[in-house]
Amino acid sequence: QNLDTRIDVGRAKYELKDLAITINEMIDRIQDGYRKQQRFVSDVSHELRTPISVINGYANMLDRWGKNDPEILQESIDAMKNEAGNMSDLVEKLLFLARHDRDALKYEITEVNLSEIVEEVAKETAMIDSEHDICADLTSGIWIEGDPNRIKQVIRIFVDNAVKYTPEGKKIQIRAFIENEFSVVEITDAGIGISKDDLDNIFERFYRADESRTKTTGGYGLGLSIAKVIVLQHGGKIKVRTKPGIGSRFSIYLPTLSRK
Ligand code: ADP
Repeated sequence: QNLDTRIDVGRAKYELKDLAITINEMIDRIQDGYRKQQRFVSDVSHELRTPISVINGYANMLDRWGKNDPEILQESIDAMKNEAGNMSDLVEKLLFLARHDRDALKYEITEVNLSEIVEEVAKETAMIDSEHDICADLTSGIWIEGDPNRIKQVIRIFVDNAVKYTPEGKKIQIRAFIENEFSVVEITDAGIGISKDDLDNIFERFYRADESRTKTTGGYGLGLSIAKVIVLQHGGKIKVRTKPGIGSRFSIYLPTLSRK
């Protein structure tokens, strides 16, 4: 984090009290940054420990029994591949956030047909998820300015979450429409919902509600922080309405391209 509260020594006309306040503020910010850094390192280590010990376990099993047993051999290879995939997914997400933090993310900005992107995500999801009733209600020809790949990444995060946190057989609705100067994508699920306390934290890195941790859905609690970064970068905002046991509605607002 940049420390923009540096004292301009050349022009300093501070009374001693003002100086003390400024220095205290600086110390608070440094301490806050340091605590966040510590928590981040501990979260990452924690998340990496599980796949590493799974891979280790299977490697040992292979070593002892796998050489002469094709079934154990195949099971171990599959499990190790799967865990390596999870680790690489985690590292990709961390690299994304690290690049964002040091302003090194590249956005390829063009005119983007938002309706088409949302339709693609809805179709792709419906193709691989037969457990939910996925329906899309999209106004066509909504244009925004942005990076099409990043926008698709954002929509995917919300739709994937709706799928993950909604029981089988329930409805997931995806809408796209224009509201004032904004293009809105709205994902509504009839899922587990989010409690008030959790709602304050779900956009924090690595945060997962207890209910999600205990489920076998997988995930690292990084999706929403990535989505937030991208939406803010596009001049947009995200609103959430949710009720535990009833469902959630995530609305993504992006500035509409006015020339279209
Ligand atoms: P992940 O889904 O990988 O855990 P996210 O950052 O995408 O991470 O989401 C953070 C947390 O927010 C989830 O763990 C879950 O507790 C909650 N959450 C997100 N989307 C939903 C949803 N549609 N319904 C219920 N809970 C959700």
